[in-house]
Amino acid sequence: MKEDLMHLKEKALEILSKSDNIDELNELRVKILGKKGELTQILRDMAKLTPEERPIIGKLANEVKADLEQKISEKMQQLRKTLKDSKMQQEFIDVTIPTKVSLGSRHPLTLIMDEIRDIFIGLGYQVAEGPEIELDYYNFEALNTPPDHPARDVQDTFYITDEILLRTQTSPVQIRTMEKQQPPLKIIAPGRVFRSDAVDATHSPMFHQVEGLAIGEGFTMGDLKGTLVAFVHEMFGHDRKSRFRPHFFPFTEPSAEMDISCIACQGKGCRVCSYTGWLEILGCGMVHPNVLCNVGHDPEKINGFAFGMGVERIAMLKYGINDLRLFYENDLRFLKQF
Ligand SMILES: [Zn+2]
Repeated sequence: MKEDLMHLKEKALEILSKSDNIDELNELRVKILGKKGELTQILRDMAKLTPEERPIIGKLANEVKADLEQKISEKMQQLRKTLKDSKMQQEFIDVTIPTKVSLGSRHPLTLIMDEIRDIFIGLGYQVAEGPEIELDYYNFEALNTPPDHPARDVQDTFYITDEILLRTQTSPVQIRTMEKQQPPLKIIAPGRVFRSDAVDATHSPMFHQVEGLAIGEGFTMGDLKGTLVAFVHEMFGHDRKSRFRPHFFPFTEPSAEMDISCIACQGKGCRVCSYTGWLEILGCGMVHPNVLCNVGHDPEKINGFAFGMGVERIAMLKYGINDLRLFYENDLRFLKQF
């Protein structure tokens, strides 16, 4: 029996030394050490031994068993480690290699809107917001533009129902703010506006405006002019010239358009400015008495001024872009330049 045990041990160790496969080792463990394994078979014959031999053989069998178990388990650990190492080697990623992922940049319209916002915040204005889906009352009527008014061109407005529309301007935010806040107040309202226009180099059914409103006591056209000239100097440089031309808007009286000296030719006259030397940048005026009455103010006591500018237009002038559509196409070659 002693020989049988030693023989079994040698046979097992030989298989073990040749094996480089975890499944094979598992099989070996079951075959030798399992309940129906070869070692168990040998130990069945213990009963035939003399009482003197029994403990000696028992001890030897236990030693063989423990020894084999340990050696199989060591070999398995070693194989697992080799397997893991080779897998790690295959899946190795060098995190120090520079990657080609590039960070996005902010959209030129966002940059311009933020710049406009920052300039007016610096002048003491607060940012106000209003809904893009608006009531006819706020978009037109309260702004002194009744239904039969010629300034209302039905073709330009996206109506949802007779009373609900997509706002065509950011001016309704003036009314909504004056309904909620008492003067003195100074706000700007940046946001999207919608008009039923066909898309071309200078038109889009959706574009952005920034509205401005200042009301209180004793405002004059001089305050309006000083504010907007300060804005132009911050936005387009301190040597930029500006001028005001009389104009018409239903919600301001008197009304004006503001021009700046052409950015392309510095006022000498070129194709960009149609050889006038000037570029229009915004509309403005003193708030119409009817508008003040509509929100419950006495125009004899409270007055103020308002202005509105197209963000796309400011961006096109500032960056020298000649086609509005570039802003909405999301072409990275364009967007990456800002
Ligand atoms: Zn010019």
